[in-house]
Amino acid sequence: MRKTLTGMLVTIFVLYANAAWAEPQFDGKQALEHIVSQVSFGPREPNNPRAKQKTVSFIKQTLQPLADRITTQQFSYKGLPGTNLWASFDAVPEGKAQRIMLGAHWDTRPQAEKDRNPALRNQPISGANDGASGVAVLLELARVFAANPPPVTVDLVFFDLEDMGNINGLPYSIGASQFITANPFYRPNAGIIVDMVCAKNLSIPREQYSQSLAGEIMDTVWAIAKQQDSQVFKDSAGIRIMDDHVPFLRAGIKVIDLIHYPFPDHWHSSADTVDKCSSDSLQQVGDVVQQFVATYKP
Ligand SMILES: [Zn+2]
Repeated sequence: MRKTLTGMLVTIFVLYANAAWAEPQFDGKQALEHIVSQVSFGPREPNNPRAKQKTVSFIKQTLQPLADRITTQQFSYKGLPGTNLWASFDAVPEGKAQRIMLGAHWDTRPQAEKDRNPALRNQPISGANDGASGVAVLLELARVFAANPPPVTVDLVFFDLEDMGNINGLPYSIGASQFITANPFYRPNAGIIVDMVCAKNLSIPREQYSQSLAGEIMDTVWAIAKQQDSQVFKDSAGIRIMDDHVPFLRAGIKVIDLIHYPFPDHWHSSADTVDKCSSDSLQQVGDVVQQFVATYKP
C-alpha cells in the first residue's frame, strides 16, 4: 500500500515537473516588477533623455539573454529623436514559419492634461499603466518564449513616441509609423498591441479599428479569453482608438489593439501610478496572448 502510494506520488511529481518544464507560465507578479522598474527611471518622455536612455538599456538588458536577435532602430521626427527596439524569437523548427508581432509603446505622455489639478496638467505622467504595463507584458512573455520556443516566429517591438498626440500638432504613434517606413518588407501574419493593461478594474472591449480590419484575429483572441474564463476581456463593442495598431492596419498588416476602455480615471493624469496596477490583470492579458502565440493557425 505504502509502495503504491509512493509510486503514485512519484508519478504525479514527474508529470507535474514535466508539465512545468514544458510550458513555463506567464507570471503577472513578475510583469508588475517590470512596471516598478520602468517607473523608477522617471517619465520616459522627450524632456527627460536620461530616463529614456535608462529605459532603453533596461529593455535591452532584460531581453539580451532571452531573444535570438535584438535590433535598435533610431529615427528622428520633426526634430524629436526616437528609438524603437525589435527583439525576435525564432520558431522551432525554423523554416516557413508564420510570424507574429507583439507590440507596446515604451514612451510616456509629457503632459497630464486630464489631471484634476490644473497646476499639474503641464507635468509629465509616471505612465505605470499608459506605457510601462504593455512593455511589462512583453518582457515577461520574452522569458516564457525563451524557456519554451514558440511554434511561430515572434517579434517583440517596443515603440517610442506613441503618446505625443495633439501636443504641438504632433500625431499619435510616431514610432510605429517610423517602424513601418524603416522596415518596408516586414509583413507579419498577425499582430497584437498591448496598451494600458494593468489597472485593477481592467476592461478590454473589442476596439473597433481592430474589429473591422482584423476581425478574425479578434475572434481568436476573444475565444481564448472565453476559454480561459478571463474577466478583463469584455465581449462587447468598444470605440475606434488611435494607437500603434492603426499605422499597421493602414499598411495592410493585420494588427489588433488590446486597450482599456472606457479609459481609466487615472488616464493622462498624475494618478497613473504603480498602486493602480494589479498583477492579476497583467496575468489575464499575458495568459491570453501567450495562448494566442502557442496555438496560432493562419
Ligand atoms: Zn496615452
